Amino acid sequence: MGRITLDNVTKSFGPVQVIPPLNLTIEDGEFTVFVGPSGCGKSTLLRLIAGLEDVSSGEIRIDRQDATHVPPAKRGLAMVFQSYALYPHMSVRRNIAFPLRMAKMDQAEIDRRVNSAAEVLNLGDYLDRRPGQLSGGQRQRVAIGRAIVREPAAFLFDEPLSNLDAALRVGMRLEISELHERLRTTMIYVTHDQVEAMTMADKIVVLRAGVIEQVGSPLELYRTPRNLFVAGFIGSPR
Ligand code: ADP
Ligand code: MG
Repeated sequence: MGRITLDNVTKSFGPVQVIPPLNLTIEDGEFTVFVGPSGCGKSTLLRLIAGLEDVSSGEIRIDRQDATHVPPAKRGLAMVFQSYALYPHMSVRRNIAFPLRMAKMDQAEIDRRVNSAAEVLNLGDYLDRRPGQLSGGQRQRVAIGRAIVREPAAFLFDEPLSNLDAALRVGMRLEISELHERLRTTMIYVTHDQVEAMTMADKIVVLRAGVIEQVGSPLELYRTPRNLFVAGFIGSPR
């Protein structure tokens, strides 16, 4: 179960409050996209949910349990980074298995999970290669594989496609959407790309300067943007 609730969450860096009190519920299984211009707080919000940053105040609940002060590794969430962060000297298999080995899971279960992730991601033929022998898209899939094997309650993506060229981006966008169809696990996806938001999301959260301007389905935001900012950013002019 991956229902995530933010209750009056704020975040300040020194004297600067980048997230004023913010409330948001992400339903279990939902594909939610955080979209907004550069610097609006998308990554900060995702890092707060992941536990990579501490909230300044407020509460984060995962599956109705207070997770506000739970360390990142114990939140049951998996973050997929844009810079792959793969180990160049390890095979694809070992890269994907890495978090499970760290958790001292038994080898039979590691093999089962790695093989299953490789099948979902079409990486079966590449398990013995090193990251340097893979294309950008394949590397991105390995990074996703490393998240899948942990069987997380939710996947958190921070602009995972921004290092890829335009053609590959479209392909990976479809792959991530298909992965969501298949797993039906909660996904939170951060992007500054309106097209990604409109094509991938069940629910879009539009952010400006740390404030949620509107939450809704792509169609709702397109048809009934609440203000000019949302209209200009995502919708049709009203
Ligand atoms: P986005 O991901 O939407 O581009 P960020 O969440 O990275 O935006 O940043 C939101 C704001 O918080 C920006 O003004 C940024 O400069 C500031 N910020 C982010 N991280 C830090 C930090 N560690 N220390 C100080 N300021 C930060
Ligand atoms: Mg960012």
